Amino acid sequence: GRKFFVGGNWKCNGTGEEVKKIVTTLNEAEVPSEDVVEVVVSPPFVFLPLVKSLLRSDFHVSAQNCWVRKGGAFTGEVSAEMLVNLGIPWVILGHSERRALLNESNEFVGDKVAYALSQGLKVIACVGETLEQRESGSTVAVVAAQTKAIADKVSNWENVVLAYEPVWAIGTGKVATPVQAQEVHVELRKWLHNNVGAEVAASTRIIYGGSVNGANCKELATQPDLDGFLVGGASLKLEFIDIIKSAT
Ligand code: 13P
Repeated sequence: GRKFFVGGNWKCNGTGEEVKKIVTTLNEAEVPSEDVVEVVVSPPFVFLPLVKSLLRSDFHVSAQNCWVRKGGAFTGEVSAEMLVNLGIPWVILGHSERRALLNESNEFVGDKVAYALSQGLKVIACVGETLEQRESGSTVAVVAAQTKAIADKVSNWENVVLAYEPVWAIGTGKVATPVQAQEVHVELRKWLHNNVGAEVAASTRIIYGGSVNGANCKELATQPDLDGFLVGGASLKLEFIDIIKSAT
């Protein structure tokens, strides 16, 4: 089976004090065991050492990005090697905010995923369509092209979690309905089946992101092809614990 996965993407938020408070709350929470749900929180780079040092050991830490190749003369970047050196096991790559605001192309994201995996990181790889793309009926083509750009560079999917995050649902309060999410998750799994292999399709976790909260997570979690969540805004709040509990 695919173990339920709940990621908290803190994005570019928080002060040192706020981060400590969130970690304390998480450390005190009673949640299902690590055998049932994999919990990963993703603070901004500058807080990674702090969170890693304070966070309970059954929860894991992720970066929100890393450089596409080996580190060197790339001012302002953080390399996959540095994350590995720091003991950070996960990285989020291809988030729509970076695709849209920083012009990350499908190919660039594919290269990043491949390089991060080659260095031993596990990757939460994000795909998703804009409202315009959904309304023009190209949702499946868009997420397939984004997934293909990753599959072109990656053969071993063992350490990849695929996050379906429709752009129109991110930070908008407009969550995808369980049926809408399930539909795209099925298409992504089909795409993996036809283009990568049956085993990868069956074992790869496909998680949903976009306005997930404590109130809507339960019903979404019942969808058979939805294997967890990538949570933005609500991951900074107490309801993140309810979202973790939706695993059961
Ligand atoms: P929200 O949960 O704030 O909509 O953000 C989702 C997201 O982008 C997670 O990566």
